[in-house]
Amino acid sequence: MIAENLKEVLSGIPDHVKLVAVSKMNPVERVMEAYDAGQRIFGENKVQELLPKYEALPKDIEWHLIGHLQTNKVKFIAPFISMIHSVDSFRLLEEINKQAKKNNRVIDVLLQFHIADEETKYGFVMEEIREMVKEKSFYEMENVRISGVMGMASNTENSEQVRFEFIELANIFETLKSHFFKFNDDFKEISMGMSGDYQLAIEEGSTIVRVGSKIFK
Ligand SMILES: *Cc1c(COP(=O)(O)O)cnc(C)c1O
Repeated sequence: MIAENLKEVLSGIPDHVKLVAVSKMNPVERVMEAYDAGQRIFGENKVQELLPKYEALPKDIEWHLIGHLQTNKVKFIAPFISMIHSVDSFRLLEEINKQAKKNNRVIDVLLQFHIADEETKYGFVMEEIREMVKEKSFYEMENVRISGVMGMASNTENSEQVRFEFIELANIFETLKSHFFKFNDDFKEISMGMSGDYQLAIEEGSTIVRVGSKIFK
């Protein structure tokens, strides 16, 4: 079943778009089913759920952290995490850089932006980026690779609103690219789109979709 769902989802995603299979709340046996069907990139939103899965599952899995990350938990995932989508403060970025350095690694990160019409979702606002790029220490971080932006649209049936929010994130990406990352070829990813809206997200420029329930239903 998971293999079929995965195939169905992949058939709707163009080659240039990466699929993160969001395995949160699914036991390792079910993650293994997706692995056996060929999936290698998995996303988790909580460190305490990710760690036992990392231990139990094959080591060629690329793990992505997609949920809010507390600075005091960075050290637990720094030895192995491939990408952190949910960087929402300069302080967190600095901590990731520090822990990556300790592990002699460079960690891919995305800057999360608040695009939803909801109070609770984490993320930067543009002004905070303008402040961040004024810091000398911003340019001295050698163990993080700032690879683009991430956002979550509102949880609504109104697809015009969702589309509008995706366009907003794509515009944020373009603004950052042209103002601050023009000569940085690593800054190229837009992580947006989940089970209910990934097709819309791809139409609006997504390069990474994070799909959970449609694969693990
Ligand atoms: C759970 C989650 C997803 C996947 O959501 P589905 O609707 O199950 O596809 C994507 N991104 C984040 C940040 C999530 O927490």
